[in-house]
Amino acid sequence: MYAGLGNSGYDVDHYALDLDFDGERLAGTATLILHPTEPLSSFYLDFTGLSVMSVVVDGETAGFETADELLVRPLLPLTEDRAVAVVVEYQGAPSSIPNVAGRFRVGWHKSVDGWFALSEPAGAETWFPSNNHPLDKATFSLRITVPAGLVAVSSGVLREQKETVGGSTFVWESDDPIAPYLVALAIGDLERQTSISGEGVSIVNYFDDDVGPADRLIFDRQGEMVDFFAGLFGPYPFDEYGALVLETENVPAALETQTRATFGTQILALGEPVVAHELAHQWFGDSVSVADWSDVWLNESFATYAEWMWTGYSRGEAALAGEVESAYLTLSGAALVDSTGSAADAYQQALVAYPPPGTPQATDLFNASVYIRGGLALHVLRMELGDQRFFAVLQEWATTHRYGNASTNQFLDLVESFGGPGARQLMEQWLFSPALPPIDELDLHPPS
Ligand SMILES: [Zn+2]
Repeated sequence: MYAGLGNSGYDVDHYALDLDFDGERLAGTATLILHPTEPLSSFYLDFTGLSVMSVVVDGETAGFETADELLVRPLLPLTEDRAVAVVVEYQGAPSSIPNVAGRFRVGWHKSVDGWFALSEPAGAETWFPSNNHPLDKATFSLRITVPAGLVAVSSGVLREQKETVGGSTFVWESDDPIAPYLVALAIGDLERQTSISGEGVSIVNYFDDDVGPADRLIFDRQGEMVDFFAGLFGPYPFDEYGALVLETENVPAALETQTRATFGTQILALGEPVVAHELAHQWFGDSVSVADWSDVWLNESFATYAEWMWTGYSRGEAALAGEVESAYLTLSGAALVDSTGSAADAYQQALVAYPPPGTPQATDLFNASVYIRGGLALHVLRMELGDQRFFAVLQEWATTHRYGNASTNQFLDLVESFGGPGARQLMEQWLFSPALPPIDELDLHPPS
């Protein structure tokens, strides 16, 4: 899915970005350490909207062309498995781009008093050149200078912060591999707030100074959440965690940017569940990433079900049952009965509105089905396997594929190894069958 995203012929091992942002224009030097996986006389990087000044490969000036992507022609062909440094100098006024997956624009955005990046799936290419595919993860460092007094926040750990003649400089490093779309970036009047979970995970939040106390309240239990999920999924996979909470307009979104999830103020009305959702993505989506975007239910269903489990933990098991029932009613078309006149017609409309989560459409990748029908699939699997085997599946998934990628088929294989072919067939029905499967144990059936 999305043939334009990601490139073949090489793997990136490390990105080192050196950026200067003056409040309007971005000037950057991106150094990519990459190793060819085949002999290359030219290769593409995903990069759009900014002007490329020069490209140097292995110390030699390279030819390049810019159109939708950046085509690089090294002076000499690259040989397989010998790592080279590719240095791209660029500048311009970054902006967002239309989203291939539907919904709002992605890439470089304006917040009310600052700027931020929201990149799933394609937006990273609006601010740095990359191999923009979850399959190609790399370690990442960012040195960025912003106007004096402003704060720049990214993924990973803050290594350095200093005032210079040109402004304020921040250095962030991700030693664990990260997919380009998951790199956080925000610039603004951001306040740092630190704490440590009961189990010792460091929590480093940044709040836009205009975000009020009521909106900050839903982040109070992050430490407890990290420890709760670590108990279910295995150890928290990264060095630290935190939220990046920004005052936004027109971007009612949150994104599981690695180690530091990004939240726009318009999404905070969802309360604690959205905080739990983005945190759970650190295991499912960030540490274990999809092999192809069509597997996105592996990210969203797991985060959604984690969100329901947090609701059950914090408000009682009846609250979890309520989430399950409400999701089932949505998928059955309950909300459409008034407009269609009959439950059966509403159900038929709902089947069109919510296609099976295992086969999402490219222009509607984040359909509610990949969240809630997939979430129900996991709940049904839990009932089928029992808690002990269900959480063993999730922990094995998080451990085996940590910092890597995995596919739907691999998950089905794992389910089968724990629950036999019957458990696999059950999951296949939930993921691929056009009809909504019944949940007999809960007396939930599609209207007939
Ligand atoms: Zn999500």
